[in-house]
Amino acid sequence: MADPIAARTAADGDALASLAARDLRAEWGLRPIINASGTMTLLGASIMVPEAIAAMVAMAGQFVEIEALHRVAGEVIAELTGAEAGFVTASCASAITLSVAAVMTGDRLLAIERLPDTTGLRREVLVQLGHLVGYGASLQQTIELSGARVLPVGTISGSRDYQLEQAIGPQTACAVFVVSHMTVQHGLLGLEAFCRICHAQGVPVIVDAASEYDLRGFLQRGADLVTYSGHKFLGGPTSGIVAGRRDLVRAAALQNRGIGRGMKVGKESLAGLIGALRAWQRRDAAAVRQREDEALALWQQTLQGRPGLQVRILPDPTGNPLSRLRVMVLPESGWTARRLADALAAGQPPVMVRDYQTDLGFFDLDPCNLHAGEAQQVAAQLQHCLALPTPQAGCPGQKDVLK
Ligand SMILES: *Cc1c(COP(=O)(O)O)cnc(C)c1O
Repeated sequence: MADPIAARTAADGDALASLAARDLRAEWGLRPIINASGTMTLLGASIMVPEAIAAMVAMAGQFVEIEALHRVAGEVIAELTGAEAGFVTASCASAITLSVAAVMTGDRLLAIERLPDTTGLRREVLVQLGHLVGYGASLQQTIELSGARVLPVGTISGSRDYQLEQAIGPQTACAVFVVSHMTVQHGLLGLEAFCRICHAQGVPVIVDAASEYDLRGFLQRGADLVTYSGHKFLGGPTSGIVAGRRDLVRAAALQNRGIGRGMKVGKESLAGLIGALRAWQRRDAAAVRQREDEALALWQQTLQGRPGLQVRILPDPTGNPLSRLRVMVLPESGWTARRLADALAAGQPPVMVRDYQTDLGFFDLDPCNLHAGEAQQVAAQLQHCLALPTPQAGCPGQKDVLK
């Protein structure tokens, strides 16, 4: 006898299979970009790993007790990070906002319901001035969204022990430490010193490690809470992770009764992130690295020896297991770094390079978000663009916009 539910499930399965084979970009008039830029929100973050996609699809049509699903996610996070507990929210920015809220309110529900009104709560958050970055939005605003106030420590050129030590006062709620290529990279307090000074006066430390591959090191080196993006190197859905001290993680989770409501994740993102974290545990890091190194070698060969271009492979500035190819564009080439980056982005297919430092005369090529065959397409587009008439001679389709 025909089972209507089984029949429907099979039809749904077929629909899913054909859906996955579609290129929505072509259907919806969107450009099929190749990402040689890295993990960028503006380009769609990262390629989601198959385990994450499968888990999202499998959970999408089912009911589940959300608290119980959160518990599963928390256990996986704890296992991977070595933390006592973990919690999932909408993004790393949300994770930072809710972590700061957590240290201010603890588990007091009335205080949670009253945020961003912080009457009666300690609300100063210490951040080294060289760590007050922007990632499309400012870290300061992300922290202050909770009702907290940022108190910058030191100057843009550096901070010293006493500047942090003596900034701590009766209104200090916590301190935030950022690990990123975007921070000032010299003259600042390191994580160990930062934690030692804060902990000596009972101040918890939150580490923003949104883009860092190291899931254990920051907690081991003293952080009370650490936050990550689920959609960057982990290849999960758009989501954010809080990991660390059990009492603080619980207080962060309780914020979903307050300001966290608009930052919540649903069943599909929870399932997808769990899938991504499990895949991360099993991933063959050496094979990934080898593929990336092959792409770098190909691009280096493609560009080496061209007049006016200098190329060199550089390690990631914060120590992630990843290298990039730096392309220095000198005037003899007839190009500027900005114009060459724009020409690549205007090409067919568009190649998006890591172009936030073109004012210094270079861009980088990042191999960590490529599909099979795309390294070769990037090399071909580099050759194609460099063969175009140089911009001074009026190469079409180029603009000179700083991004
Ligand atoms: C990307 C990033 C963020 C924001 O992460 P989202 O998950 O996109 O909110 C915060 N801090 C740093 C250092 C980042 O690189």
